[in-house]
This record gives sequence, structure tokens and C-alpha cells, in this order.
Amino acid sequence: MHLAASFDGMWLGEITLDPIAGSIVGGELSRLERTLFEADWADAAGRLGRDPTVGELPRTAGQRRADALVEMATRSRSMPPDARRPAPLFSVLVGYETLYGRICELADGHVVAPGMLVPWLSGAYVERAVFGPGNRVEVGPAVRFFGGATRRAIELRDRRCAHPYCDEPAERCEVDHIIPYSAGGPTTQDNGRLLCGFHNRQRNQRPPPAA
Ligand SMILES: [Zn+2]
Repeated sequence: MHLAASFDGMWLGEITLDPIAGSIVGGELSRLERTLFEADWADAAGRLGRDPTVGELPRTAGQRRADALVEMATRSRSMPPDARRPAPLFSVLVGYETLYGRICELADGHVVAPGMLVPWLSGAYVERAVFGPGNRVEVGPAVRFFGGATRRAIELRDRRCAHPYCDEPAERCEVDHIIPYSAGGPTTQDNGRLLCGFHNRQRNQRPPPAA
């Protein structure tokens, strides 16, 4: 990382981070940026009395990102020494690698080599998902909605919308019953799949398939 004051007092920098460090820094930066964006949006909407366009916001995206970095530094200075440190969440997929060839990823979906976990073992949240016959995570097949471990297992297994031409990631998908619940379909891993909002609505508009 390079950061230095230039002749005219402006600061110039450049940064290169490994996947885990990048996920920590980038993730927090975008979280702060989002709150600044919402503040800018509310400010402009209040001034104009309607939804603003991006050009009517008081700051550019680049300026908001710079302000988010300053906010990050300010919060770091004011953090009490005994504050709980946030930890990255790793998902380790056991029995999945034989099918898909990757086994360890960060909470944002970035796949990392398992060896990269080692320095973080004492400080990170690590979740384990076991895939394979006899090891399925199932929680109450008669419940109406997918939740808890069953939902998480389907998210980790499918990654994205089940529609063949759709790339929406798991975090923007719902878990859908393949055989509809109303037609007696169980709430299990086998009968679950991810569908984005659009494809979920599209599916629900069609009559259910004849059983
Ligand atoms: Zn989709």
C-alpha cells in the first residue's frame, strides 16, 4: 500500500490486497458508502420534494468513497480498546469439492485456498456445510418456508438463481419449492432451489405442473 502527501498537499495512494484483506476492507468501505449514499439521497429528496437523479446528489460516487475512508479512520481512532473485533465468515464445504472443485469461500462468495484460513482460525467465524448422501441438513420438512440450516445449505449448494440464463447470486434469491408446497412438496434440501425475485414471480404466475 502506498499513501503520501503530494507537493500541493493532496494525498495520492495505491492499494493491493489479498482476497481476505480485500474482502474485509472493501466490505466495510461499501457498508459505509451505502450509509453515505442513503444520507445524500434523503438530503436531495428533501430539497427537491421528489426522488433525485444520481446527478442531483450532493456528492459524486468517488467523493462518497473518499469520505467513507475518512469515516473509517475516524471510527478506528474512536474505537474503545476492549471493543469486539468483527471477524470474516468462512464457509468450508465438505464433500462438495468432488463435484465442484472448490471448498472454501468468504461470506461474500469469494473462493479462497483452504490454506488461507490457517492464520485466521483463532479469530474468524467458520461455518461448515456437509454435502452428501446421509449427511443432509434437514430441518422440519413440513414447515412452510425454508429457513435456518436447510436454507443455508441450499444457498451454499446452488450459489445462484436456478434459471439457466440467470446469474443472480444467492443473497438476492429466495428458496423455492420445486414441487410446490401446495401440491404436497416437502421443505427439504432435495425439493429446494434458489430463484431470484423475477424468476420466482414468473414461476408463480404459471399454473403448477400436473403431478
Ligand atoms: Zn433468476
